[in-house]
Amino acid sequence: MDLSLTEEQQLIVDMVRRFVREEVAPLEDDLDTDEDRLPPEQFAKLVEKTKEMGLYGLGIPPEYGGPEVDVMTNTLIAIEYSQHRAGLYAPCYGAFGGAGLSQLYEATDEQKEKYLYPTLRGEKKTFFGLSEPSGGSDPARAIQTRAERDGDDWVINGSKLWISGADRADYGLLFARTGGPGRAGVTCFIVETQWPGFNVRRVVHTLRQALHATEIQIENLRVPNENILGQEGGGFAIANDRLTRQRIPYAAACLGPAFKAHEMAIEYAQIRETFGAPLSSRQGIQWMLVENEVDLRTARWLVLDAAAKADRGDAFRTEAAICKLVASEAAGRVIDRSMQIHGGLGVAKDLPFERWYREIRIRRIGEGPSEVQKHVIARDILGAGLR
Ligand SMILES: Cc1cc2nc3c(=O)[nH]c(=O)nc-3n(C[C@H](O)[C@H](O)[C@H](O)COP(=O)(O)OP(=O)(O)OC[C@H]3O[C@@H](n4cnc5c(N)ncnc54)[C@H](O)[C@@H]3O)c2cc1C
Repeated sequence: MDLSLTEEQQLIVDMVRRFVREEVAPLEDDLDTDEDRLPPEQFAKLVEKTKEMGLYGLGIPPEYGGPEVDVMTNTLIAIEYSQHRAGLYAPCYGAFGGAGLSQLYEATDEQKEKYLYPTLRGEKKTFFGLSEPSGGSDPARAIQTRAERDGDDWVINGSKLWISGADRADYGLLFARTGGPGRAGVTCFIVETQWPGFNVRRVVHTLRQALHATEIQIENLRVPNENILGQEGGGFAIANDRLTRQRIPYAAACLGPAFKAHEMAIEYAQIRETFGAPLSSRQGIQWMLVENEVDLRTARWLVLDAAAKADRGDAFRTEAAICKLVASEAAGRVIDRSMQIHGGLGVAKDLPFERWYREIRIRRIGEGPSEVQKHVIARDILGAGLR
């Protein structure tokens, strides 16, 4: 299996690396250490550059105006564009443009006009509302938010928990139960955040200061029938498909800060002296660096393998679960060791480690926790009969 980069991919990787190091990272010297947005003029300048690179709209299918980039190249870019302080949850502060909610590419023409296109133009922000207080690992069983048909509308009641960015969003996808228990009873609705009955009850503060998670209270929210995305009862398939696809770029972006942390640890170990010799001469430090290297190479290989399968059109559900599991856990270890090598500086806000350290912890839970990835992999090994 050959996962080496083509000449074109190497050029793109080098270009994005230069962009992050020369254009994005220096801006962070003047920002709050937890910032996830740039002042508009700086943001506009970065967007100009990503457009010049031909990479604006990454993740948007070419027929909707995005660049012709396969999953593998996209994955390589995600490893690069996250290599700065805010990179894990705000890679390049959004300068590569948002692909929006990928499910909307399957929407009706009217839904695309109203929701998808304004999002692609950067005019509307979105949320993805699946998890509830009753549980996020097994949403097919846990969803209690209920939608009842009333004439041409649906009336929705319930609550959602952990929904990222709903406090800033214009609309989003809300998964609610329209039928009996289990997968077939879940329907996906497009709902607007200013509609009466949609209330962001509170921001839930987590280890991640940027991009808030929220709790949403839904009281008699009236949604027209034409705002069902896909089919009534087809909501779980929509959610599941999105979660599987999302796992490869999600895993790749975990590796960005980890690669950068490792690079910084190597440099620091060579210049920092204790007891009359550089840290890099000590086996205790060397082994930490070696473990970083092994973790990173293993995870990168698995992420690229999953991307290659997706590009070939092969089934990649298990590979996506494996790479999400391995990359999120490996990145946490690498950042932790790199922090340790930096001593006190490792925990100071002068350097990006402390932000990465907090935010990378969420990656073992978000987009399906490690245990859920193992459940997916076990199902593949043992057969679909597993509950
Ligand atoms: C910062 C943040 C942002 C988020 N953003 C969003 C968002 O935008 N939209 C959205 O819909 N959700 C979002 N989530 C929710 C996230 O997807 C859920 O937290 C996650 O799916 C886990 O659900 P839970 O928290 O209810 O844990 P539970 O489902 O209650 O699980 C608790 C623990 O048990 C483990 N577990 C579960 N089942 C098994 C099993 N069979 N065997 C062994 N262990 C098991 C889980 O891995 C977990 O560690 C976000 C979460 C966080 C923390």
